[in-house]
Amino acid sequence: MDNVTPLGGDVYEIDTRMAGYSGITAGYLILGDRPCLVETGTSTSAPVVRDALSSLGVGPDDLATVVVTHIHLDHAGGVGDIAGYYPSAEIVVHEKGARHLADPSRLMASAKMVWGDKLDVLFGTLAPTDAARIRALGDTGTIDLGNGRTLASHYSPGHAKHHVGLLDSHTGDLYVGDAAGVYLPETGDLRPATPPPDFDLDVALGSIALFTALQPQRLLFSHYGPVDDVSPILERSAEELRIWVDLTKQARAEGLDLDHAVAMVRERTRERYAALRAGDATAEQFELLSGAPSNVAGIMHWLDLIPR
Ligand SMILES: [Zn+2]
Repeated sequence: MDNVTPLGGDVYEIDTRMAGYSGITAGYLILGDRPCLVETGTSTSAPVVRDALSSLGVGPDDLATVVVTHIHLDHAGGVGDIAGYYPSAEIVVHEKGARHLADPSRLMASAKMVWGDKLDVLFGTLAPTDAARIRALGDTGTIDLGNGRTLASHYSPGHAKHHVGLLDSHTGDLYVGDAAGVYLPETGDLRPATPPPDFDLDVALGSIALFTALQPQRLLFSHYGPVDDVSPILERSAEELRIWVDLTKQARAEGLDLDHAVAMVRERTRERYAALRAGDATAEQFELLSGAPSNVAGIMHWLDLIPR
């Protein structure tokens, strides 16, 4: 399949083709005795993921685990559909996200407020999953991949309060979700992902420090793909967060409203990203996944909550 890329160590990257785009949302299959899918992509991605799994020899009764780094719809929107296709799979998620997978009504209502008419096209509808099939993770947890291989979960809030990173005991791969930002493999750009309502700078920096301390061999971004240069990229993640927060603070101190703050931060960060300097087509990915309006709104929201 042209949307499946082997990454070594029985790990396969699957382009889940959010809204028909290529190279925006990645899921990963870890093959072995107990095959595990990391991230489902959106609801409309579910048939794409099923085809990819079947091309890798994983049939309806073979998938042991589905785990999501967090419950945003580009990562977990397909959980209900995938749970339906694979009736033996256990669904694993942080405890702060578990109830939303069992009953997505509140999550879908708030997504509708944010995305409006674009919701259906971009994400589709998260279907509910039988609560009995959901295993909720605490601060840490373990997923059995078979043959002594495990995926260890590490609570990593900051981008979202229900976010976990996942470390593979066999490969040293760390699935970073959105906690380290959005990476564009075409240009090597990295941008922060700081959406409302959960973004918190100190908490997010703490999660990046935790990722560094885990000493992963490789980072697997949900947006998008593998990165071997672990330390420089995690340092860049922290630097990006600080720069966006500092600029947003300046805009706020100057009394700019949200629209003007977004325009200012967009302009003053533009030069940092090769994709934007070049007017590259891949820049569209940033706007969808870590757009300046969403990032600045998330930082503003956090600043509003800090007692002064
Ligand atoms: Zn995401």
